[in-house]
Amino acid sequence: MLSPPDARIAFIRANRERYLSELTAWIACPSISADPAYAADVRASAETAAARMRAAGLSGEVLETDGHPVAYGAWLGAPGAPTILIYGHHDVQPADPLALWTTPPFEASVRDGKIYGRGSVDDKGQVLMHLAAIEAHLRLTGTLPINVKVVVEGEEEIGSPNFEAFLARERERLSCDVVVVSDTAVFAEDVPSLTVSLRGLVHWELTVHGPAGDLHSGYYGGVVRNPLEALAQILASLKDPAGRVAVAGFYDGVRELTAAERADYAQLPFDAAREAAALGVPELTGESGFAPLERMWRRPTLEINGMYGGYQGPGGKTIVPSFARAKISARLVPAQEPEHVKRVVTEHLRRAAPSGVRVEIEAHGDVRAVETSRDHPAVAAAARAMERGFGKPPVFIGTGGTIGPVSSFDRILGLPQVLIGVGLPDDAIHAPNEKFDLGQFYGGIETMAYLYDELAAALPQGAPR
Ligand SMILES: [Zn+2]
Repeated sequence: MLSPPDARIAFIRANRERYLSELTAWIACPSISADPAYAADVRASAETAAARMRAAGLSGEVLETDGHPVAYGAWLGAPGAPTILIYGHHDVQPADPLALWTTPPFEASVRDGKIYGRGSVDDKGQVLMHLAAIEAHLRLTGTLPINVKVVVEGEEEIGSPNFEAFLARERERLSCDVVVVSDTAVFAEDVPSLTVSLRGLVHWELTVHGPAGDLHSGYYGGVVRNPLEALAQILASLKDPAGRVAVAGFYDGVRELTAAERADYAQLPFDAAREAAALGVPELTGESGFAPLERMWRRPTLEINGMYGGYQGPGGKTIVPSFARAKISARLVPAQEPEHVKRVVTEHLRRAAPSGVRVEIEAHGDVRAVETSRDHPAVAAAARAMERGFGKPPVFIGTGGTIGPVSSFDRILGLPQVLIGVGLPDDAIHAPNEKFDLGQFYGGIETMAYLYDELAAALPQGAPR
């Protein structure tokens, strides 16, 4: 007789075709959250998720928000065991431009071991991995080693505008020990990886005011400070020639990379020259003393996102413009305090302004970077599960971007999070011909089946919930 884990894996392997047809049916529901014309489809997609939860042995219901609904299901039959909250989303990006799809976006098609369709990997397929793994546990043993709550959001692709309010309202229902997020990709095919850090985000709008209106540069050039020139001076003062941000206090709290982190990043297959060529730039640049992946994931940045002012129309127009404006943003790393960074950059911008102009600065955003220690027992458990599911220990990676719901979980629930996604970098999420590699899909289901065992063994016994 097979041991319970082996029996579950045999069950999962025997049901691959069914999982594929379930994913195909779910993809057929065009749950485009950005377009109000598809609101009924987003709701139908939440109903599909809830029904699939019930089929797996979870409770399954649709919970309302002020926007598109959330599908929620739980299995709480392991008193004393820890509780995990699994997050995914059921809404998808618009499918445009339609003409670039080889097969229709909402009629899934399997080619060369990949399933193509909008939402295949982002994120319906990855949600389904968990539901299939939970089902395998419950069908074969009637139980799970851990209590499980599953939240499948309907507005991730539009920036989760109602998710924080939902978390705050449902705080009790969602109480747990660890959050498991499956909406990310691995570093490369055959390089299993776990994301353990995400950068935060704050931004500014800087306006340099000069004369009350545009002036004739022949009459007034030479006596009135030019706001565009002043803006250029201010912006040029933000970095030193080595690419380091020259704002006093900007790096306060930033932790140096450990030798283990640097070694992890150094072993990843990353070719700076090839990357530069793919991006259409002659070389990768940035803060000296750090490798590109270190700069992308673990160093804060300050970027100018837009600059404008003066005459932009055809031909020439000889003026001293009345104002100039720039948009600036910073990506933050763990332990950087958003409010502190907003303050020191704002002070720097004011100090750097030359005489003869007035600056106006608005600072926005408060997204803190999120990090889960690679030594956290839940991360170690996820690494073991991934090694069992994919036959190789994962590498710990970061991501330079910001994942809204991850920041929200951090802010509202303050819990450790495990980011265990299995997409591939070339899955074309948000683009035509989005796909999910079936090896990743099936390996992901097995990984999740192991994950619940590993988390149950690694986490301290939970309080009743
Ligand atoms: Zn997603």
